Amino acid sequence: MVRAICFDLDGTLARYGGGFRSFVGLLRHELLLESDLDRVAQLLQEEIARDGPLTLESALTRTLGRLEQRPPPDLPELVRSAVRAYAADVRPTEGAGELLARLHARGVPLALVSNGPVDIQRASLASLGFERFFRAVLISGDADVAARKPAARIFSLACAGLESLPTETLMVGDTPEGDVAGARAFGMQAVLVGDAAEGERLGVPAAADMRAVDVLLRERFAL
Ligand SMILES: [Mg+2]
Repeated sequence: MVRAICFDLDGTLARYGGGFRSFVGLLRHELLLESDLDRVAQLLQEEIARDGPLTLESALTRTLGRLEQRPPPDLPELVRSAVRAYAADVRPTEGAGELLARLHARGVPLALVSNGPVDIQRASLASLGFERFFRAVLISGDADVAARKPAARIFSLACAGLESLPTETLMVGDTPEGDVAGARAFGMQAVLVGDAAEGERLGVPAAADMRAVDVLLRERFAL
């Protein structure tokens, strides 16, 4: 039985329409960096994947340090405007809003469990208008969370926020390791947003998109 559901954000409920490379291009331009775009993108990607408290500003500061560049005095403003630009280009995946609204109306407790910088993920969620559907929002970069999927801690905080046992909580996400294996290692159930063969390999049901997740939740989990 499933009583509560956790959703991943990126690649599951939403997608950034701008492309990471062009976002890095914007930052590189604003920061007047002369380093090669691929190098900046690679370093920023590595910094965004770090454990512990994380914001776009902290990731950029460390990236600049690795490029031996001093952060400009207006970095906080520059970051705020970059976060706004990013969030404005985040789009819901097809059927995501409808699915969340249906489950919320049905009284199913929902949580968002997302890896990423807290400022970017919070702004994206606000831009999507999805905050109101979630009883708990766990973002890995949040200082109170400071754990990335597949770490047990983030799933444990989600279940606590949902007041739900892991065995009665379902994780829905598109990353085999972070979302599916992580949740199952913590004792939760999982659905892969992806292809059937990969789901079979992982031993969990798979659904191609949020519409298919909706059908699966109705048919298999009676939700
Ligand atoms: Mg994802």
